[in-house]
Amino acid sequence: MHAAPDMTPSGDTHVAVEPAGRKSSSPPTIVLAMLLGAACLLQGAPARANEWASCVKELRTIALGKGIGAQVFDSALAGVEPDADILKLFDNQPEFTIPIWDYLSGLVDDERVADGRALMEKWSAVLAQAEEKFGVDRFVIAAVWGVESDYGRIMGRRELVRSLTTLSCSGRRQAFFRGELLATLRILQSGDIPAASLVGSWAGAFGQTQFMPSTYQRLAIDFDGDGRRDIVDSVPDALGSTANYLKRAGWITGQPWGYEVRLPANYAGPAGRRTKQSLAQWSELGIRQVDGSALTGSGPAGLLLPSGAKGPAFIVFRNFDAIFAYNAAESYALAIAHLADRLRGGGAFRTPWPTDDPGIGRAQRREVQQRLLDRGFDVGVPDGIVGARTRTAIRAFQASAGLPQDGRAGMRVLQALRAAGPDPRVERAPGVDPAVAPRPK
Ligand code: CA
Repeated sequence: MHAAPDMTPSGDTHVAVEPAGRKSSSPPTIVLAMLLGAACLLQGAPARANEWASCVKELRTIALGKGIGAQVFDSALAGVEPDADILKLFDNQPEFTIPIWDYLSGLVDDERVADGRALMEKWSAVLAQAEEKFGVDRFVIAAVWGVESDYGRIMGRRELVRSLTTLSCSGRRQAFFRGELLATLRILQSGDIPAASLVGSWAGAFGQTQFMPSTYQRLAIDFDGDGRRDIVDSVPDALGSTANYLKRAGWITGQPWGYEVRLPANYAGPAGRRTKQSLAQWSELGIRQVDGSALTGSGPAGLLLPSGAKGPAFIVFRNFDAIFAYNAAESYALAIAHLADRLRGGGAFRTPWPTDDPGIGRAQRREVQQRLLDRGFDVGVPDGIVGARTRTAIRAFQASAGLPQDGRAGMRVLQALRAAGPDPRVERAPGVDPAVAPRPK
């Protein structure tokens, strides 16, 4: 699984959820269409065995023509079969939308801030070096690390060669995934990362930076100086590569990404990340910093309104676009930017999200899951990840409690579960306190 399911801004208060691993190269509709293609192929798997073999044979010819050694290819592809799980992943992750406040609550919570601060201290020398060499803010580098892989804790477990070969032989994006497969084979050929470490998301994003293999080839660096570019097992290589990525995406040293602002009442003026205006122009429209002071900074800026004019508003500069380049979604970039600010010591947004049912962090999501278990609803292991099973259980609890059945893990359902308490008929593990459901390893 991925720490941060990729999200796509949809222009309103909601973001579409997709299977993890996409980078800016594949628009969501194309990813879904591609998966449908994979589904068709995999459903007919027994009849298509010959098709698979001939596809692998074709890939071998292409790879050898591009300089991949026969031995590298044969050893990487030995016994590899199509990954039918990609079909299941698709089935289990139907397109649905979650509010942006839920998205941000899961990615920027107290745990990720505390973990990030501890790790920034541990790796302070490397971060200082990255900051000096690439001119990229260390808090932003750390925030990307925290959002992409939960600081290297969650990198995906799917074998890259298998996933990418499956995607190279089915669906509409075969040319794209063939390029990624070739890039993966080049990593194996170089010996930079051992085959056993080349695991990641279903679409091939891997390592602590969750780079696609072609991104790795373009932008990964050897920052610990051992001669290998290893973004899986080397934290310095991962942090240095992230800094290199952001620099190449146009990061301007010493500039902020942006900051929260206050809109005048009933604001109906221009907005959007790409609608760039000078700060003087934004000021003329009555926009101020959240504390009421005048706008500061330099260069053209956009006005980000993730939930419309009634929610938090942000002035965003060029460096926000650099973060956006990492994974083309405004909600994603805002999560990185906000986590960076929290790591730096900043607080929550001053303007509340326009909802009476705020989002909750991973600790509270685990509490929801534990309390559902205590009431006899099956959610599996309370891991803080709200998947289909947890949503089904929430819906069932909501039905039993006479609440609207939205299946959403938010503050309202948490409070309802706390009020309901455990069902005495449900056998509980001794000593389990739902408020402190343990953090999974
Ligand atoms: Ca290295």
